[in-house]
Amino acid sequence: MNDCLPTESPLWQKVEGIIKNVTSAYGYSEIRMPIVEMTHLFSRAIGEVTDVVEKEMYTFEDRNGDSLTLRPEGTAGCVRAGIQNGLLYNQEQRLWYMGPMFRHERPQKGRYRQFYQCGVEIFGLSGPDIDADLILMTARIWRELGIDQHVRLELNSIGSSEARAEYRTALVAFLEQHESVLDEDCKRRMYTNPLRVLDTKNPDVQAILVNAPALSDYLDEDSKTHFAGLCELLDATGIEYTVNSRLVRGLDYYNKTVFEWVTDSLGSQGTVCGGGRYDGLVEQLGGKATPAVGFAMGLERLVLMVKELETTVVRNPVDIYVVTAGEGTMLAGVKLAEHIRSSVPGVRVMNHFSGGNFKKQFKRADKVGAAIALVLGENEVSEQTVVFKDLAGGTQETINQSDISDRLTHFFKS
Ligand code: ATP
Ligand code: MG
Repeated sequence: MNDCLPTESPLWQKVEGIIKNVTSAYGYSEIRMPIVEMTHLFSRAIGEVTDVVEKEMYTFEDRNGDSLTLRPEGTAGCVRAGIQNGLLYNQEQRLWYMGPMFRHERPQKGRYRQFYQCGVEIFGLSGPDIDADLILMTARIWRELGIDQHVRLELNSIGSSEARAEYRTALVAFLEQHESVLDEDCKRRMYTNPLRVLDTKNPDVQAILVNAPALSDYLDEDSKTHFAGLCELLDATGIEYTVNSRLVRGLDYYNKTVFEWVTDSLGSQGTVCGGGRYDGLVEQLGGKATPAVGFAMGLERLVLMVKELETTVVRNPVDIYVVTAGEGTMLAGVKLAEHIRSSVPGVRVMNHFSGGNFKKQFKRADKVGAAIALVLGENEVSEQTVVFKDLAGGTQETINQSDISDRLTHFFKS
């Protein structure tokens, strides 16, 4: 779990700001859910035989003896909140959220135990048009972050649960013939959740899977039509993608469309965003059957990419440093700064508080990267003036305090 230090936070704010602007440009609304939920919500929604539920959850008993879990992902909690608050009943919802998720994994670059996701969940729409809307939106986020040249879209349809059941039989028969190559995890999953074997990271198993039966040959008509509709929309809007028939995603609730945005620039932690359709989940968790589709993007991986590609210099946190020396000047400085914050929106003003002579104070002003120092000595305070010092230009002049807002507005415009 990481601290996000002041040197890092401007980058996070940039990434979060872009995501907020883009989701709002598509008419999506924010929802905020709690960080803990009842454990059984996750085991039911995500699936008992998944990495997340089998070995990654932070689960504990609270004082009542209830089993609670720090959320490992947002979809389950979002569906729970939607059902509980009557948001899903015969309604359409387009929701997004952002916040920490928790998984007990082996920490490494791009993989942490507390990590941040932005998730989007859409309820009440069943066509491929909304799947395309989500993908167009993520593509816009990549462009605004400046990473669009470094990510690519992989797409698949995993069909209906009936289609997957039929496929499962064929896949198990295939896996049984190659049992000697399978590792312990794969062997165990062969009968409990054989589709999971398809996204194994074991290269030997991956090699034999090249010849495994393909899920696409087992798709139901409805899923085929849906997938063709999605591909058509993406072609028409200029979104490039590759169909990856082995893409199944790590959680059990998906059906029909699944997709991932992947990159080669983060080593093996290559997925920056993953999602898909989960038409059965709302009903499975006790609501009325409601079609749904969503995705989650990992913010650390996006921040890492933006950081590596970043060409613009991160802005200093301060525009104006207020320097004071002499009897009564500190209070005058505080009042002047308050006046500026009220009258010049967006400007960032910091007061010097740790004493010392002017030289020391100007050093501080440079250190925090201020463009202007405003200087108040006893004379200035009694005459209601202030010394306006342009730190980069090296010029200074004395002006009336009543003119300060106009002067600053003019300065930051030019
Ligand atoms: P992976 O295959 O990398 O483990 P996943 O399939 O488990 O990913 P999802 O559950 O789909 O991931 O989560 C969506 C996104 O959240 C991922 O694509 C990734 O960007 C991010 N993510 C998942 N787990 C972590 C983690 N432990 N640390 C940082 N980011 C993560
Ligand atoms: Mg994972």
